[in-house]
Amino acid sequence: MQAITYHYVRPETGEPPAGYYHLPLEGFRAQLDYLEDTHTLLSKSTFFECLRGDRRPPADGVVLTFDDGLLDHYRWVLPELDERDLWGLFFVATDPLVDGRRLPVHRVHTLVSCYSGTELLDALLDILRDHDQLSVPEQSAEGMYADRDTGESIRRFKRLCNQDIPYEHLPDVLEALEYRFPEDRSVEAADLYLSPDQLRELDASGMVVGAHSVSHPVLSRLSLPDQRTEIRNSRRRLGELLDTEVDFFAYPYGGTSSYSARTRELVHEAGFEWAFTTQPGTITTTDMANSPLTLPRRDCTGIEHGETAASLPDQT
Ligand SMILES: [Zn+2]
Repeated sequence: MQAITYHYVRPETGEPPAGYYHLPLEGFRAQLDYLEDTHTLLSKSTFFECLRGDRRPPADGVVLTFDDGLLDHYRWVLPELDERDLWGLFFVATDPLVDGRRLPVHRVHTLVSCYSGTELLDALLDILRDHDQLSVPEQSAEGMYADRDTGESIRRFKRLCNQDIPYEHLPDVLEALEYRFPEDRSVEAADLYLSPDQLRELDASGMVVGAHSVSHPVLSRLSLPDQRTEIRNSRRRLGELLDTEVDFFAYPYGGTSSYSARTRELVHEAGFEWAFTTQPGTITTTDMANSPLTLPRRDCTGIEHGETAASLPDQT
């Protein structure tokens, strides 16, 4: 069986981050048609039986997962699933629910959707040079003028923001960037994320809500106490909000380097039963028995009708 990952799913609304990589609603519908014709979309009870080892997962079994607690999931995904009598697993980072602020990862998406990679990268390197405590990682500075291809500059820009700039300086740097690129400042969390009420509605309509950390960091970049806080607090916060136990976790970014063996232990200690990565693969009986905290997923873009409207490189 396989779990499929979705992020932005929307018609061409022009709403932020418009132009950013997303699965067009039509593509989502076509993909669901395709999956319903050729695969077995597992009912919630069958999926749980498989996870608990009470039933062998069908080789063509599929579950749908949706990351980041995006408003798209309420506006466009939920009605589509409801109509087809399907369900999904929704992984939500809790900061936007609590303080109504956008997560750094999505501020970067909005910047990338509004401005060219080259101008963003040039401005960012400029800001880093001016910043007393920050130096430009060599790898990012070298060859920047040799290769001005937009795809490459976006990749480098995102890498700097998401991986290289120390988390304690990231808010300052993003603020300086948004000052230079003001289009980004007009976007509010309410334009982008589910509200607590919408999340409750999702839960009440039979969807399953899982945690996706508090602030969507690369967990392996944090100290163990900070990782523990991100993992534990996201579970507690969602549990309070929905008045339920939260059994599922998805590692932010989700690649092999985004979490460690210790991270996995912390996920276990926090009380989660199952966790998903973004490493591609099918979920086998062995995975469920031996590695329930690193279940693989497959991105929707790799499946029939998953072509994206605006395909920027290396999206997460
Ligand atoms: Zn995410």
